[in-house]
Order: sequence, then C-alpha cells, then structure tokens
Amino acid sequence: MASEKEAALAATPSDSDSPTIFDKIINKEIPSTVVYEDDKVLAFRDISPQAPVHILIIPKVRDGLTGISKAEERHFEILGRLLYTAKLVAKQEGLDDGYRVVINDGPKGCQSVYHIHVHLLGGRQMNWPPG
Ligand code: ADP
Repeated sequence: MASEKEAALAATPSDSDSPTIFDKIINKEIPSTVVYEDDKVLAFRDISPQAPVHILIIPKVRDGLTGISKAEERHFEILGRLLYTAKLVAKQEGLDDGYRVVINDGPKGCQSVYHIHVHLLGGRQMNWPPG
C-alpha cells in the first residue's frame, strides 16, 4: 500500500465539489465506523490509523471547503464546529491526558482527500516536530 506521502503526492488537489470517498462514507455507500454524528458533521475511525485512536471529523456538506486553504468567512461556523467536535470525541474516547488535532492541506501538507477533515490522534505519546 502507498505511504501517506505517496498517496498525498498522487492525489489531485481540487477546488471543485467533485465527489470524494468521504461523500460515499457520508451517504453510507461504503462502510465506516462512525463514532459521532449530528446534522452537520460526521466523525469516523481512520481506515489506516496512525495512533491507537485516529478519527476523522468532516462536514457533511463540503460547500467548497476542499481544504483549509479554501476557507472563506461563510465557513466560520462549520470550522468551529469541526474543532469543537474534535474535543467532544476526544472526551468520548477517554483521551484525558492529551491528543493531537491536525489538518493537512495540499501536496506539501500531505493531504490526499480533498474534502476538509480534522484528524484526531491520541492514545500514545506524540512527538514534535511532526514529519
Ligand atoms: P493522508 O492520506 O496523508 O493522511 P489526508 O490528511 O487527506 O492525507 O487524510 C486522509 C485520510 O483518510 C487518511 O488518513 C486515510 O487513511 C483516510 N481514509 C481514506 N479512505 C478512508 C476510508 N474509506 N475510511 C476511513 N478513512 C479513510
């Protein structure tokens, strides 16, 4: 299987609202392990976990928000909600000693899926700087 970096470099950065694999997860066309859901956001376990807890938090409607670099003022509410959901899920997962929240953007940020998502990572000691 391609490394995360190879997958990111192979991905096509997209400004469009063309579907990604996350649309199929939102529409339940492909399975995922959902850990939190409301009318605006979905949180599910990453298929290739980089930590004992690795959860992705995504907006159900992308509205042009393919990545954080495409954020506009109209996205303020959903951006806040994504981060607040990370906190809720971290609590739900028992990550009381700390965790990491990451948003990858573009090829150099190692983004491979162009539907904005927040990574919640925890359950082990994190290192700094990240690779
Ligand atoms: P990277 O692949 O470098 O982590 P991203 O930040 O774009 O880049 O993260 C996309 C994430 O989506 C990856 O962590 C990947 O494992 C995850 N992923 C891809 N397909 C699925 C899937 N079907 N179910 C759950 N997670 C998935």
